[in-house]
Order: sequence, then C-alpha cells, then structure tokens
Amino acid sequence: MTSATDVLIVGAGAAGLGAAKALAAQGKSVRVLEAQNRIGGRAFTVTDKFGVPFDWGCAWLHAADRNPFFDDGIAQGVTLQHHDLNLDRLYFGARRATAIEMAKLFKADFELARILEHKTAKGDRLAELIEIGAVGAAAATYTGPMDFAQDTDEISVADLMAAADLDPNFLVREGFGSIVAHWAKDVAVELETPVRRLRWDGPGVVAETPRGEIKAKAAIVTVSMGVLAYGGLRFTPELPLPQEEAIHNLPMGLLTKIPLEIKGDRLGLKPFEDILIERHGHHDVYFLCFPFDCDLVVGFVGGDFAWELSAAGEAAAVDFALQSLTRSLGSDIEKRIGRTAMTDWGANPCTRGAYAAARPGFAGARKALMEPVGERIYFAGEALGGSLIQTCAGARLSGEAAALQVCRHLK
Ligand SMILES: Cc1cc2nc3c(=O)[nH]c(=O)nc-3n(C[C@H](O)[C@H](O)[C@H](O)COP(=O)(O)OP(=O)(O)OC[C@H]3O[C@@H](n4cnc5c(N)ncnc54)[C@H](O)[C@@H]3O)c2cc1C
Repeated sequence: MTSATDVLIVGAGAAGLGAAKALAAQGKSVRVLEAQNRIGGRAFTVTDKFGVPFDWGCAWLHAADRNPFFDDGIAQGVTLQHHDLNLDRLYFGARRATAIEMAKLFKADFELARILEHKTAKGDRLAELIEIGAVGAAAATYTGPMDFAQDTDEISVADLMAAADLDPNFLVREGFGSIVAHWAKDVAVELETPVRRLRWDGPGVVAETPRGEIKAKAAIVTVSMGVLAYGGLRFTPELPLPQEEAIHNLPMGLLTKIPLEIKGDRLGLKPFEDILIERHGHHDVYFLCFPFDCDLVVGFVGGDFAWELSAAGEAAAVDFALQSLTRSLGSDIEKRIGRTAMTDWGANPCTRGAYAAARPGFAGARKALMEPVGERIYFAGEALGGSLIQTCAGARLSGEAAALQVCRHLK
C-alpha cells in the first residue's frame, strides 16, 4: 500500500499527544484523530463552571519527581501546591474519629503498604488482605475506591503492587488539564473525527471515520479500555484473542467528583484538608476541602458506589454529598451552597469510566496488550503506563514508548 502518512493516532489525550510529539521529533508523518471537539481527553480543566479552574479529570501531578508534566508546569509558570493526600479527619457518619482511631488508620495504611512493598500477599484479591472493622474499612476505601477506582474485592494485589508509590503529589491552581493543553498546542489534531473501525486486512491500516477513510502504515490506539470493551472502536479482522481477552480483563473503574461551591464560612477547615466520611464501607465519600482557598469542597466517590450514583444522576449525587457533609460537620451548609456538578466519566461514551484496573488473577493483561497486532497496531494509554498506570503521566510515557516502538518497525 502506498500511504502518505506514516502513523495514524486514535485519540488526543495525553497518550496520543505524547505519541504524536515523539513521532514528529523522529521525522515521521502523523495524523491524530479525535472523537471529541477538544484535545486532552481525561485531562480537562473547566474554567466556566465555578469561576475558578476545575479539573474534571486528572488533578494531582503524581510522582512529581518523575512526572514530565511537573517540569512542563514549572516552565509554564503555574502555581503548584504540594499535597500529601494523608487524611486529616475521618468521620463515621456524624461522629469524628478519635485520636486512637486515627492512629489505627495510619497503622492499617502502613501495614498494607508494607505487605505490598515486601510482596508478601498470598492471594490476589485486595479485600482478603484488609482487616475488617470500621477503621480497616476506611483504610480500604482510601486505597481501593478512592485511589484505584474499584472496590477492594475487584482489585488485583499484583496489579496494585506493580503501580509505583505516587508521592510526591502536587495540585495545580490553573488546572492539570491546562498544562496538558499548553504542552500540546503545537500538535495538529483532527477534532470531531471518531474512528468507528480500524481495518488491518490489507497492508497498513485504514481508519473508517464519518469524514471518510484515512490510511497509514501503522496506528497507535490510545482510546480507553472502556471504549474498546464497548465496541466504540472496532477492528477488521477482529483483534487476536490475547489482546481481546486483555481488554476484558482490564475493566474501567469509576471515580466521580462532586464539587460543591460553599460560600462564606469555611466550616473550621483549612485549605487542602482531606476528609473521609465512612458510611458502612460502601457509601464512603472523600472531600478535598477548599483547594487554593477557593469556595469549593470537592467530594469523591469511587468503585461500585460511583457507578450507582452515575445511574442515579447528578441531583442524587449532589444531594448525597451535601447530606454527608452536613451530617458530619453539622452546619448550615445547605443555605450557603452555590453551584454544584458531577463529573460523570462513566456515562461519557469517549471514556466509559475513569481508568482501568486488572481483575484479580489477571495482572498480566497489561503486558499482553503491549504486544503489537500484525506489526502495525500498537496500544498505548494510561492502562499501559508501567509503574505509573492510571495516571496522566503514565499515559504520556506509554504514548511516547509506543511511538519509538513504531519507529523501529517502520525503518
Ligand atoms: C475523575 C478522574 C480523576 C483522575 N485523577 C487523576 C489525577 O489526579 N492524576 C493523574 O495523573 N491522573 C488522574 N486521572 C487519570 C488520567 O486522567 C488518565 O490516566 C489520563 O488522562 C488518560 O490519558 P489517555 O491518553 O490514556 O486517555 P484519554 O485521555 O481518555 O484519551 C483518549 C482519547 O481518545 C478519544 N477517543 C475515544 N474514542 C475515540 C474514537 N473512536 N475515535 C477517536 N478518538 C476517540 C477520547 O475522546 C480521548 O480524547 C483521573 C481520571 C479521572 C477520570
């Protein structure tokens, strides 16, 4: 096949944009096709909703000492705030945890980290490692739904072990999404061009889009595991079984933010305080309070409960977050509530969840998906982010790595 384009990239999130920049640096011709009307994917700062930048998706620059976006942020002159993510307060419904319970919580966290670090786990289901009881449940929630975006009985210990410790973490006043948008402003992207099908039945690849067919020698596919599992992008011929199975063994977890604008009194909370409200281990909610001293308290729910709230809708989610906060902090918050929202990445057909986590027993799925198909289809994205899986930096590094792999084949 004679194709003018070397590589076609499906998706303009951190992975696709990273791949495009790396390929351009190697002198390869690239076309980047994006379904939505903007770039960034899950890195998306919304500026017109709360009067301050608000990250609809990624917000923390994790592993800042090895996160390339950290240096980009500094070069762009953004305001960064170190945030250790340790819980400042824990509530069991209306009751605040005692100092002894807080100490037990940190001990439970430490113990879990120790088990993971020394790889002493026997089974591969996180729930089996966690001591049952109110404090144990709180520690489990923080590591499970609020971080891995899955309930602990859905988390593979081997998968969790493979992910790096994400310290140090930083928040960005201007928004993480704005760093990504600025970093990628030189990448030409064809917006509103969803790839419905990728054909690899002849030489090279052919992308079928509503704007016509686009040919290239190879493709880098960066859409989420959710999009692939739902058939948002299909293949002809079908993908080989190892890749097909890998996609289904890397289901999307869900993390949902419920930002609440609260005017006036700060409820006795300092900016950036972290609160967890434990509600029987299944309806827990974490709040990041007044970041950068703005009028926002950002609720987070994760795992099965996030999917439940996604089905219940935004009004129910906002009501839940508000009632939880009022019950624990006991004040007149409702009278002072301003704008509210729910980030529903589960319902977004271009994502279908927050990020992928391997099913217990299937941590090897990530490696299987790194194998190129027919020496011309390469997968990249947060699911293949190595020790930075699930993160925006991991997505970018995976896109850059896939680009170099393609270059080796195209020579
Ligand atoms: C609520 C939430 C909070 C998060 N918090 C953090 C955090 O604090 N720190 C952190 O580092 N990470 C965080 N993440 C994860 C981080 O946002 C992602 O890991 C990263 O942005 C994923 O990048 P990607 O390029 O792999 O995928 P995406 O950003 O999803 O990019 C894929 C692109 O493909 C497009 N697409 C989909 N289907 C098609 C198609 N058929 N044709 C063409 N294009 C298509 C999509 O529109 C999208 O733009 C969070 C994610 C969520 C949802």
